[in-house]
Amino acid sequence: MSEVRVRFAPSPTGLLHIGGARTALFNWLYARHTGGKFVLRIEDTDAARNTPEAVAIIFEGLKWLGLDWDEGPQTDGTTVGDHGPYFQSQRGAIYKQYVDKLLAEGKAYEHEGAVKFRIPKTPITVPDLICGDVTFDRTMDPDLVIQRKDGTPVFHLVNVVDDLEMKITHVIRGEDHLSNTPKHLALFEAFGATPPRYGHIPLILNTNGSKMSKRDEGASIGDYIANGYLPEAVRNFLCLLGWSPKENKEVVPLEEVIEKFDLPQINRSNARFDLNKLYWINGEYMRAATLDRLEPFAAAILRREGILGESYDAAYFRAALAIVQEKVKLGKELGDWLAYFFKDDYAFDPAAVAKVFTPEGLANLKTLRAALAEASDFSSAALEDRFKTLAAAQGKKVGVYIHPVRLAVSGRSVGPSLYHLLEVLGKDRTLARTDRALAQFPG
Ligand code: GLU
Repeated sequence: MSEVRVRFAPSPTGLLHIGGARTALFNWLYARHTGGKFVLRIEDTDAARNTPEAVAIIFEGLKWLGLDWDEGPQTDGTTVGDHGPYFQSQRGAIYKQYVDKLLAEGKAYEHEGAVKFRIPKTPITVPDLICGDVTFDRTMDPDLVIQRKDGTPVFHLVNVVDDLEMKITHVIRGEDHLSNTPKHLALFEAFGATPPRYGHIPLILNTNGSKMSKRDEGASIGDYIANGYLPEAVRNFLCLLGWSPKENKEVVPLEEVIEKFDLPQINRSNARFDLNKLYWINGEYMRAATLDRLEPFAAAILRREGILGESYDAAYFRAALAIVQEKVKLGKELGDWLAYFFKDDYAFDPAAVAKVFTPEGLANLKTLRAALAEASDFSSAALEDRFKTLAAAQGKKVGVYIHPVRLAVSGRSVGPSLYHLLEVLGKDRTLARTDRALAQFPG
């Protein structure tokens, strides 16, 4: 078999829709699975929508998802080969040749200034790799406008000419294009060319069964970037929107998907979009991420939120990350878990103050402060020992020290394991913060 060549052919609309991202991913996976080529083609013939910003959003989304294309300049500045990504807006002369050819052969004709292609009025069967054989009647189909009065070519023509010119072997695209395929097959036939194989991916529906639209939550890849999802988690989630490994696994490493991915396994029924599932998968990836992976990801988010400065104490930051990592499911939540590590004048949660900083709670905090001041070993294990020894000596439960000191050093009643928290904050910070709390709430 000749080399597989697939393409992602988005029209710039101002966002990268989750359906488009999945189409791109499935094409990319198929190319990587077969050792073929993944081509990017921007279908930007609609001048009104074709803005540099809209194109940049597509590039940014693909780059974020790690979907590199095989021809032309990449988003990281490197170049693969000397073609692509292709822009239809730059290929007008090519389309014109094809229109002229159809006109010369009598397969198309002029009609009120436009050019119309003669659609054969016979039934045709699309042998779809995903949907199976789908037959279209065509006996009543009108001829197809392929060039408008103003001379601009129409989607169907440019799409077919480019698939032909770019030697595309498999067209993997959304099911909303299935009804266009009889027209596309007719054009391939008119050009005397063998058509690519087609595979139409079922739609993505909301959990309530309605078709996902632009306005639905989670419809745009940009939203995932903004909310601090990990791209590898989103990619994993997108893989499962219509495809699944045989075992019912939810977290599937990319290498495994590439190895197993094939077109016949794509589900024929519509995929259900479930944001809760993505949230869960993201949490799994957050938990499993190495600190080397997490640090730059988290730092970028916390800088954006003004929590972290341009330079920061990397060892302290990594230690803090390590103890909250298992609690955080989404990048957007990081600030809430980490802000007080980097801000000594945090506010004290009033509800927690009312409950924990009672006269008795504050008295216990003072006793604990004295015990901590004597500690030379501030490791979590040594701290745990010290808390337990103190509690036993005073005939109290450890909890009576844990709650006030947590509130004192963080301003809140929930957080990571207390002994680990104190270890990360270190002795000086722990004592200073406790003193600040005691000064503010003398009891
Ligand atoms: N530009 C078309 C779209 O964005 C692509 C159609 C195709 O993949 O053939 O829907």
